[in-house]
Amino acid sequence: MTAYERHPPHPVGGTIEVIAGPMFSGKTEELLRRLRRASLAKQAVTLFKPERDNRHDTTDVVSHDSRRQPAHAMADAAALEAMVNQLIADHQMPDVIGIDEVQFFGEKIVDVCNRLADCGIRVIAAGLDLDYLGRPFGCIPLLLAHAEYVTKLNAICSITGRPAHFSHRIEGGSEDVQIGGAESYQALSREPYNEVVVRSHHRVTPAE
Ligand code: ADP
Ligand code: MG
Repeated sequence: MTAYERHPPHPVGGTIEVIAGPMFSGKTEELLRRLRRASLAKQAVTLFKPERDNRHDTTDVVSHDSRRQPAHAMADAAALEAMVNQLIADHQMPDVIGIDEVQFFGEKIVDVCNRLADCGIRVIAAGLDLDYLGRPFGCIPLLLAHAEYVTKLNAICSITGRPAHFSHRIEGGSEDVQIGGAESYQALSREPYNEVVVRSHHRVTPAE
């Protein structure tokens, strides 16, 4: 009998963790790190990402330092919940669910995360807290309020070298959502960001 059979892992218990910050702040790295540790603990892990984030690969989640993990690309929050429910029905209930780029899932993801956590699943969601105009991004304010644990990360400002809290769009249009990487966005700290963007502090990203 193996040590794992003698001491089976306890159910992790349902919680919501949010990893938030600007682009390049290491959200995906941190999400993948937590999922790796859960896998080491022999917990069943399932990773999701929005279908629309096709920057690197249609199925893997990939960080800016090229760490990657296979993921299910989901059209929306309902599809994500349906897939987890199917896993539960098939007696393959995940202990831990990761969701990358959670801001693209829309507000319905908040109820889904709560329902999954209520089932006993540890839900870890990573996403942008602000859009390129400095507006709280979609579902993130609600999700931060509902989460038991919140981690805020900073990137490195490409002008000052200080901690950066803002994602500045350096090229492209004025669409609310524009998928891109280092060619389109840079991380900035407060002073250089305020020189290029006039913020509407009270506004959120308009609903789609
Ligand atoms: P996020 O998911 O928050 O966009 P990632 O986890 O994909 O971030 O990538 C984080 C990695 O990006 C860092 O470990 C570093 O290697 C790289 N990187 C590139 N530009 C920056 C920057 N301006 N600040 C911090 N890290 C950066
Ligand atoms: Mg990321």
